[in-house]
Amino acid sequence: MLTSAISTTEIQNTLAAQKNFFDSGATQSLSFRREQLQKLYDAIVQNENEIFAALHADLHKSKFESFGTEIGLVLGEIKHTLRKLATWMRPQKVGTSLFHFPASSYTQAEALGQVLIIAPWNYPFQLLFSPLVGAIAAGNTVVLKPSEIAENCSRLFTRIVRETFSSEYMAIFEGGVEVSQSLLAEKYDMIFFTGSTPVGKVVYQAAAKHLTPVVLELGGKSPCIVAADAPLATTAKRIVWGKFVNAGQTCIAPDYIFAHKSIVQELIAELAKAIEAFYGSNIEASPDYPRIINEKNFNRLVQLISDEKIVYGGKADKAALYISPTILYPADAKDAAMQEEIFGPILPILPYENLESIVHFIRQRPKPLALYVFSKNNKTIDYIMQNTSAGGCTINDTLIHLANDNMHFGGVGESGIGGYHGKSSFEAFSHQKAITRRGLWLDVPLRYPPYNRISLNSLKWLFKNVM
Ligand code: NAD
Repeated sequence: MLTSAISTTEIQNTLAAQKNFFDSGATQSLSFRREQLQKLYDAIVQNENEIFAALHADLHKSKFESFGTEIGLVLGEIKHTLRKLATWMRPQKVGTSLFHFPASSYTQAEALGQVLIIAPWNYPFQLLFSPLVGAIAAGNTVVLKPSEIAENCSRLFTRIVRETFSSEYMAIFEGGVEVSQSLLAEKYDMIFFTGSTPVGKVVYQAAAKHLTPVVLELGGKSPCIVAADAPLATTAKRIVWGKFVNAGQTCIAPDYIFAHKSIVQELIAELAKAIEAFYGSNIEASPDYPRIINEKNFNRLVQLISDEKIVYGGKADKAALYISPTILYPADAKDAAMQEEIFGPILPILPYENLESIVHFIRQRPKPLALYVFSKNNKTIDYIMQNTSAGGCTINDTLIHLANDNMHFGGVGESGIGGYHGKSSFEAFSHQKAITRRGLWLDVPLRYPPYNRISLNSLKWLFKNVM
């Protein structure tokens, strides 16, 4: 694991140089921002094979999965941003009250300034570079902190960033908790953090010292509801894909299933069928099935498997950091796997009889990052959507609401604060400055003291009818 130490002086010198660079106005023009986005795009394409190799070394990810869930998403986001940036940067005209006549109003996005981006290890490429696209687009200088746990990725991304950008514009610091805390001790204009809810609280406290705005992309237990009328073969394939991609180490993976009791057995059979169709009967030999990131997480996950509830899988090999796709049934709220975010290839299934009980269960717990429902019945879907809260939802599939640059992605409550992707990323890293421009050719004196030009009743009439 990476433990490289960096000194406070090194961080402070870098931030001082970045402040000078930002204050020079160099990052403000559309052409500069577009140029940096293109440089990032080109650097990713040039280093694609090295990125594949690092993701494989850290997580045993296949090239297909690495491109589909990491590299491709970031390249797509850069293209989308390059296409839309000029429009996003334009002032947005808004209405103005007649009271202020003659005047017009508009909002203008301005860069926040110096931003810090801290990333986790599970999608080490996507979760470092996707927020970076927004930070560049909005005209900020950036400090990046990749996760020390995906160490091959961390080393490679540090090289790529240092070869591509000057540190007065974009700096990257490798390391673990200590480095992260040294970085957090300094003042930024915005902090973008992706990681666990407990560390999110540490980041929020550090930010509060300087009143720094944050985006916190956190985790939690994301439920997946399978109603009695769901077509089970397709439902099972879509759940297996979303749950076992990256061996379950996905923040929005279905964490557990609520299945209607009338279809549970059939669903389990279909899930098993889908797992073997995807990864074969010797899953350990599949090139498409990733590994657990490290021994610490392996040990944590093994503890969550209650042997007596295993209805599929349950194989684990510590030397290979392999845990097979594992289904637990009948799970209940007291199980170890139901006490914390699983973040691995373990899928508890809880039977349910009525939707009211599910809604009650979900509402008693922290608001999830994602929620899934499989049903053909609009009433069932609407009932769940209207009576539960979650960062985002996909109906009749899993994960895909994340991969839409036209929608914001983020949590709610304990699963996060703020969001990003596409225009939302640009907005997350910008301040919307509100500007009213007044004409000088007319100056109605009614608002000036002494307040005897009109009566209070006339003022009330104006507020009611003119405002
Ligand atoms: P983590 O919170 O342990 O670490 C995230 C980052 O914070 C790393 O760079 C790490 O070095 C740093 N860090 C760790 N402890 C710290 C501390 N005490 N003080 C300051 N910095 C610290 O998370 P992780 O294990 O890398 O990732 C898994 C978690 O992230 C899961 O909970 C998952 O749901 C969540 N996650 C959320 C999203 C999302 O988009 N909402 C995406 C991926 C992962």
